[in-house]
Amino acid sequence: MLDRFLSARRAWQVRRIMRNGKLTFLCLFLTVIVLRGNLGAGRFGTPGQDLKEIRETFSYYRKRVEPRRVLEEAQQVSSTSTVSDGGASSSDSNNYATFDLKKILVDEDDGEPEFKRDPNQPYALGPKIIDWDEQRGEWLKKNPNFPNFVGTNKPRVLLVTGSSPKPCENPVGDHYLLKSIKNKIDYCRLHGIEIFYNMALLDAEMAGFWAKLPLLRKLLLSHPEVEFLWWMDSDAMFTDMAFELPWERYKDANLVMHGWNEMVYDQKNWIGLNTGSFLLRNTQWALDLLDVLAPMGPKGKVREEAGALLTRELKDRPVFEADDQSAMVYILATQKEIWGDKVYLENAYYLHGYWGILVDKYEEMIENYHPGLGDHRWPLVTHFVGCKPCAKFGDYSVERCLKQMDRAFNFGDNQILQMYGFTHKSLGSRRVKRTRNETSNPLEVNDELGLLHPPFKAVKVPSS
Ligand code: UDP
Ligand code: MN
Repeated sequence: MLDRFLSARRAWQVRRIMRNGKLTFLCLFLTVIVLRGNLGAGRFGTPGQDLKEIRETFSYYRKRVEPRRVLEEAQQVSSTSTVSDGGASSSDSNNYATFDLKKILVDEDDGEPEFKRDPNQPYALGPKIIDWDEQRGEWLKKNPNFPNFVGTNKPRVLLVTGSSPKPCENPVGDHYLLKSIKNKIDYCRLHGIEIFYNMALLDAEMAGFWAKLPLLRKLLLSHPEVEFLWWMDSDAMFTDMAFELPWERYKDANLVMHGWNEMVYDQKNWIGLNTGSFLLRNTQWALDLLDVLAPMGPKGKVREEAGALLTRELKDRPVFEADDQSAMVYILATQKEIWGDKVYLENAYYLHGYWGILVDKYEEMIENYHPGLGDHRWPLVTHFVGCKPCAKFGDYSVERCLKQMDRAFNFGDNQILQMYGFTHKSLGSRRVKRTRNETSNPLEVNDELGLLHPPFKAVKVPSS
């Protein structure tokens, strides 16, 4: 057709250009595809995210053609709902799947500027307190109905845990937080321990692992009746529901952590102890310890520089900003004469147990042992250090972390379920099966582990 308008030679030239053009376009198209694939897996997103976007786009179109009945029902609901409850005007506004969560995740701004500390002043957790033991002693004397010991050798304990004020950065993270708090509620109910779950960042400078410092101080000062705070990370779970802490052993200790004296005091090893699960006695000593740890916490330059110091001074510590665990090892190792005699580094059982060495042995433990031992035979706590189930990236394979967290949860949960005659079908299964038949003499069932009415929870009613 070109020949009709152009000379033969000219037409041949144009055709050649078009042919080359097609080739160039094809190359360009392929380049874009390859680049998109590579970049997608890197900093600019993940194949998973791409897939999610595609799925969301498709599901949007699928939703558009959902059966009429659903649409009509939704319309009926919206026509009967009032304006004040934000009555939905279309089915989409009732749809969680299509709602743009970013709309509610932005926080309301009250217009008040955030308090900024004078950067020339050293950071402090609060006004200096020097006579807490006296203040607290007075209070306990005046309030005999709130004793700090609830039995002989049984201190009043408040288990403290928490997570960020925002939803997890990945959708499944919150489900694991829920499992983890359910697990802690179970243990604490059985052992007569109270729980505090914190989701507020009490001090903006102390975000992340440092958030526990201002929180612990606030709780010590607000609850003089509490003898011990038990901090436990959200990624740690109880795997022995029957193990009661050996309180008697800690009667002279103010701080109890899982760890080893030689690793902390001699080697200054940053993993010589773990701050994912520890006990802190309500004392002036505790306030003083928090005060010496705190100056390494404020985020930004201070935390970065403290991190460099800790990496330089501690054994095997990787390069990263200061964390509370390294700061603790550093303070104990360099000021042993100040703190050492009140610190109990426990390793006779797992007050904290590193998941990597425990989770593959659960079946063996079930085969050979029973709850109540707390140590390598049946660990009290399994702590998923480095898994970061609430963040975008962790230090280990997500699949291994989540599978093993499910197994740890079920391992602990089986001890709860057995009281009621159920058990998980396997450690990897959410489903449960019966372990005994229902009976018309329910009070006669055999509670093997004695967890329905554990002696360590019994309350002695004073005879009148
Ligand atoms: N945490 C918190 N608020 C936050 C972030 C973390 O209370 O905004 C708590 C949470 O309980 C978490 C703990 O700090 O478990 C320590 O962090 P993580 O367990 O991720 O550290 P790891 O044990 O892996 O070193
Ligand atoms: Mn942790």
